[in-house]
Amino acid sequence: MPVNASSESIEPKPLEPGLYIVATPIGNLGDITLRAIDVLRAVSVIACEDTRVTGKLLKACCVKTRMQRYDDHASPAVRKKLIETAINEPVALVSDAGTPLVSDPGYRLVRDAREAGVNVTTIPGACAAVAGLTLSGLPNDRFLFAGFLPVKDKARSDVLAQLGGIEATLIFYETGPRLERSLKAIAQVWPTREIAVARELTKLHEECRTGTAEELVDHYSDHPPKGEIVLLVGPPMQETNDIDADDLLKDALQEMSASKAAGKVARATGLDRQTLYARAVELKQQ
Ligand code: SAM
Repeated sequence: MPVNASSESIEPKPLEPGLYIVATPIGNLGDITLRAIDVLRAVSVIACEDTRVTGKLLKACCVKTRMQRYDDHASPAVRKKLIETAINEPVALVSDAGTPLVSDPGYRLVRDAREAGVNVTTIPGACAAVAGLTLSGLPNDRFLFAGFLPVKDKARSDVLAQLGGIEATLIFYETGPRLERSLKAIAQVWPTREIAVARELTKLHEECRTGTAEELVDHYSDHPPKGEIVLLVGPPMQETNDIDADDLLKDALQEMSASKAAGKVARATGLDRQTLYARAVELKQQ
């Protein structure tokens, strides 16, 4: 397949100047696309996070193009130079793995390039968030990618509180050493939501384990997870179909006021707090 063959024409055309955002595999090298290889061969320079990591990929694909280290902390001068080059020549942007800009560098470069009138185009491919979603069996009609959860307890619980009412599957990137703490925090706020841990996607030991956060804590405390992880949380809607909010309210009412019980159940389910409060008052009177 030529570099920029379209459905209208199969004639190879020289690669136009511009910035080419090129996705690379997230584990299995076989996931590099034909177009990605063609573009990486044809560009003048490949901007990458780590020349050693990208160098291995290029070697495996017999690509000899020059690399230039780039991340969003690079000096404005480096970014400016890449953009100047992209005005007259084709330049590729890759990250260590997967789709650039998805929890990876490139945002500033793409923004500045667009502002400078550079032709920016994308060569799509692997992305762990989407691969994890497709594997999880969780609802996928709406999803929200939220990057990495904060490490500190307070910041993490603030983020979970912000996301609580969103009626979509939530997708987080995670690391093995941090998984258990994140699951414990999720168990506190969303005890009954369905969770999926998608690990080592596209690699030899790929697995996707589902359950409640507490069930997964039990599993991973006995089997510390290795490798790379996507953590997914099913939407509150699914939970409200599966469980009865009345049961949660009744439990909560044994220990707290109607107002507090409504707040607790609203945080856990994403249901409307005022409706829950009205129902809690009714339940108290029964
Ligand atoms: N840009 C990449 C993408 O498109 O997925 C993500 C880069 S981000 C710095 C790295 C995180 O992505 C990892 O910590 C992990 O959460 C997730 N990840 C990357 N590769 C993965 C894989 N093979 N299996 C599961 N998660 C993966």
